[in-house]
Amino acid sequence: MARYKRDFKWFAAVSTLTIGCGVYEYTPCAYCGLPAWGTDHVIPKTFCYKLSDVENVLPHRLWLVPACLECNSMGGDKVFTSLARKRAFIHQCIRRRYKKILRIPEWTKEERDELSPELARYVVHGLRLREIVYSRLRYPKR
Ligand SMILES: [Zn+2]
Repeated sequence: MARYKRDFKWFAAVSTLTIGCGVYEYTPCAYCGLPAWGTDHVIPKTFCYKLSDVENVLPHRLWLVPACLECNSMGGDKVFTSLARKRAFIHQCIRRRYKKILRIPEWTKEERDELSPELARYVVHGLRLREIVYSRLRYPKR
């Protein structure tokens, strides 16, 4: 219980994202930091309802964290002893799912300049995707 309280301290945190001239606020996913589109039951509902005194074990509000759809589905109905362990599991799943993107090598500006414009755009797109995946894996560290 104490461990869950410690993990859940930062949930009210709101991040900002600057796109062009606009600054947008969003609630980050508790597992990867992308904008959360819903909530995730850290302790799966299917597991909680098996406990006869579930209301005494954890207050309902402590079960939910903001989460993106991908992380929510990756967690599935597995039970973890802390939010950090569930996050570590989800990071493993992200690493596995995006292993090809994570293997994209670094390209210098000079190397990219030698490519055709279409191929250079393709490489830059891959490098941006790789950076997004790395930032998800580093979360909550920046
Ligand atoms: Zn996520």
